[in-house]
Amino acid sequence: MTVTFLGTAAANAFPEAFCRCRNCAQARTLGGPSLRKRSAALINNDLLIDLGPDIMAASHMHGCSLNDVRYCLQTHPHADHLDLSHLLSRSPAYGVVGAPVLGFYASRETLERAAETFERDLAGYSLLSSEAEKYLNFEIHQIQPLESFTMGAYSVMAFPANHAPGMGAMLYAIEAAGCAVFYGTDTATLFEQTWQAFRQHRMRFDVVILDHTYGPEQAGSDHLSAHQVIEHANRMRSEGVLVPSGRIFATHIAHEGNSAHTELATFAKHHGYEVAYDGLVLTI
Ligand SMILES: [Zn+2]
Ligand SMILES: [Zn+2]
Ligand SMILES: [Zn+2]
Repeated sequence: MTVTFLGTAAANAFPEAFCRCRNCAQARTLGGPSLRKRSAALINNDLLIDLGPDIMAASHMHGCSLNDVRYCLQTHPHADHLDLSHLLSRSPAYGVVGAPVLGFYASRETLERAAETFERDLAGYSLLSSEAEKYLNFEIHQIQPLESFTMGAYSVMAFPANHAPGMGAMLYAIEAAGCAVFYGTDTATLFEQTWQAFRQHRMRFDVVILDHTYGPEQAGSDHLSAHQVIEHANRMRSEGVLVPSGRIFATHIAHEGNSAHTELATFAKHHGYEVAYDGLVLTI
C-alpha cells in the first residue's frame, strides 16, 4: 500500500498567504516541505481521502494523476476538505475522458450538507438524485460510524470525529493487502468509543495519521495540539494499536503555533512521531 500526502495544512494553508507571522515568513524562506496545501491524501492510485480544494494543484505539483481514483472517503463537509466543484469538473460534461465511476463515501450529515451546497451554488439538481449519478459519473454511499464496509479491495471502518458537532465528521481505518492505516483528521481527543472499537476489532495500524493543528506551546480544543498527538501516540503504542514498527504522522498543520517543517520535524522526532509534508509517499 502507498499513502501520498496531497496536502498537510489546516484550513488556512501554510504559509497563510496573507500572513507575516514568524512561522509563515520562515516557511516562505525555506520552501520545499514547509509549503503546505489543505489536507487530503491518496491511497495507492485509486482511493482519495477528501475531495479537497487543493487536490488539482497537488496532482500537478507531486506528479500523481487522480485519473484512476474510484473511491473517495470524505471526512466532513468543511470547505478545507470538500470542494464540490471537482464533481463537476471531473464529469463527462466537462470533457473528462475515461474516468471511472467515483464511489463517494460520507456520513448522512456530510451528504446532506454537500447536497444543499451543490444544489444552491453549483447545479440545479440535488447531489442525492439519479440525475447526479448520471451526469457526474459517480455513486453516493452513505456510511455509518463504527460499521465496517468494503470498497473493492479495501476494508474500511469509520469512527466519529470529535469535531464539528452535527456535521457527521468521520475518521477512517483503511485496510488492504495486510496493511492498515488510520486517518485521523479533523478531530480533537479521540472518543473512548473509538479506543474501545480499536480493542474490540483488534485493530493494529502500520501507519497512524493524526490532526496536528496546534503547536507545542498551545492547548488543543476543537483539534489536536502537538502534546495531545504525543499523548495519543504513547497510548497507541502502549495499547498495541500501533504495530511495533509502526509510524505516526502529523498532518493538518496550522501556521499558528507550528514552526516550519525542519524545526517541527526535529521536535516530533524527539517525541516519537513524524511530520508529514506535501508530496510525501509512504510505502507500507
Ligand atoms: Zn480541516
Ligand atoms: Zn502566519
Ligand atoms: Zn474541519
